[in-house]
Amino acid sequence: MITVAELAEGVRADKRAVLARAITMVESRRPDHQALAQQLLLEVTPPPDAPIAIRVGITGVPGVGKSTTIEALGNHLISLGHKVAVLAVDPSSTRSGGSILGDKTRMGTLAVNPRAYIRPSPTSGTLGGVAKATRETMVLMEAAGFDVVLVETVGVGQSEVTVANMVDTFTFLTLARTGDQLQGIKKGVLELADVVAVNKADGDHVVEARVAARELSSALRLIHPRGSLWRPPVLTQSAVEGTGIAEFWDAVLRHRSTLQEAGEFDRRRRQQQVDWTWTMVRDTVLGRVEQSDGVRSVRAEVEAGVQDGSLTPALAAQRILDAFDGR
Ligand code: GDP
Repeated sequence: MITVAELAEGVRADKRAVLARAITMVESRRPDHQALAQQLLLEVTPPPDAPIAIRVGITGVPGVGKSTTIEALGNHLISLGHKVAVLAVDPSSTRSGGSILGDKTRMGTLAVNPRAYIRPSPTSGTLGGVAKATRETMVLMEAAGFDVVLVETVGVGQSEVTVANMVDTFTFLTLARTGDQLQGIKKGVLELADVVAVNKADGDHVVEARVAARELSSALRLIHPRGSLWRPPVLTQSAVEGTGIAEFWDAVLRHRSTLQEAGEFDRRRRQQQVDWTWTMVRDTVLGRVEQSDGVRSVRAEVEAGVQDGSLTPALAAQRILDAFDGR
């Protein structure tokens, strides 16, 4: 059995086999693994004055070019001297059992670069469970010296909000959409995005992409009025050609320094830690309620009552809580 100290040492030395083992441990739901993982996280958490990694979220519909962008961006960052970790939050993988995000075969040149580490989404558990594993993996990657962490997600359910809450800068990739097509973009994602990029601005699509970027920029102005601390820029880029990738990264860095100068950066990170704490309390309590013998014994009957209208949801909730025996 490997000890926590040995694991911590291996993680800090960026020994990939140990790192992989440590990540498997934070992803595991076995109580003994969980206990070990928490000790390990305490052990490797850096002191408050240590340099901190740059955490960036990347979202967009399937096919928009997330993995192509991550590959181009990752290689660009490595050429600047960074070490890059790519993680993914893919709640659909918990059903399909396979993760489409963070797939190494889609990021071929980055995957073989020793200064990169690509980890697909954990494939078991709820979004809450996946998010917890990803946050904890992020801590491990940072302890191993990765100073940029890219977290990829598709906009399924709450996954965008979840990822936005674990990164410093949340970016949204889109295609050239104008006029009515703009309506097709989830409004919520525009509210979360700190940097927006219209991808596939190449070949015959360059002009179209620029027009789309201008329209999106106007739409964003309504969400972030003049005088806001940060107004998200809308850029154009081509991930396959590599154009606009350096500008994309510059925008991420500008967002970071704007928040830092306003004191907002530290406040956000601290708040994220507090929010994360309560998220885990909520998930744990809910799990206990759902698993309790009392609740399991009344669940079917109460749900049927709500469906046939003999119980209001409020009364049903009360019945469930009354049935919860605290175990
Ligand atoms: P993801 O599902 O968002 O990760 O998208 P992918 O990165 O897998 O890209 C989907 C498809 O779009 C692939 O065939 C890519 O080669 C293509 N693609 C990605 N970025 C660009 C781009 O900038 N320009 C063009 N023309 N095609 C791109």
